Amino acid sequence: MLELKFDKKKCADCKAVSCLVKCQYIDLNKTEAKKEWQKVINGEDSFVLDACTTCYACEEYCPFGNHPFYLIVERQEEKNVLAAPRALIKQWVNMCAPSGKFMLGDVKEKTASLCFMPRLGSLAQGKLFEDVATSWILGAEFFCNAVYLHFSRMSVIKERLPKVIENISKQGTKELICLHDECYATYNSLAPAYGIDVPFKTIHYMEHLYQKLKENKSGI
Ligand code: SF4
Ligand code: SF4
Repeated sequence: MLELKFDKKKCADCKAVSCLVKCQYIDLNKTEAKKEWQKVINGEDSFVLDACTTCYACEEYCPFGNHPFYLIVERQEEKNVLAAPRALIKQWVNMCAPSGKFMLGDVKEKTASLCFMPRLGSLAQGKLFEDVATSWILGAEFFCNAVYLHFSRMSVIKERLPKVIENISKQGTKELICLHDECYATYNSLAPAYGIDVPFKTIHYMEHLYQKLKENKSGI
């Protein structure tokens, strides 16, 4: 069973409680934030679970890398606090279940991830994407599953993500260009937060563009 790398002691010693104080959707001073965050840690009812818009920002606000957002999603699921309508959550859980309908290009060591969205392919065309124009993966088998952070369903991520990473790795991918930012966040933050090994390097779409523009500077 995958467990979140969350350290209660870091929060006990934390004076700023930046995770909640800096939140753009929840208005709390430090004292109030400390009290509410302790309730979340303890698994008690807290309005934070309802008020959270699942914007992901507190993962960056926490200076200790203690994964406050992932803990919130875990608690939402435990307490059946739904971050979206139940029918929508059910539809997404079913729609993105692996079903063998994936699609592959001529996959090379450098691979573009189209995640679950074929239209992302239109972002990877032209000279700046020559090296991955035909090397791509698409479908539920390669879907990062981060969407379930917005649906109070960490259990689905924990169940499906290790297999997704294995599927990508089996294609021989050594460098994965993530055309969707949530894929990048999944392999660089979410997977390590649960101790899941990611055996390939991930490159954000913007990082790839920047690198290619530098390489082609003389042609600009
Ligand atoms: S999650 Fe991070 S910012 Fe929030 S109280 Fe804990 S250590 Fe502090
Ligand atoms: S994920 Fe939730 S608690 Fe964290 S900053 Fe966004 S709205 Fe606030």
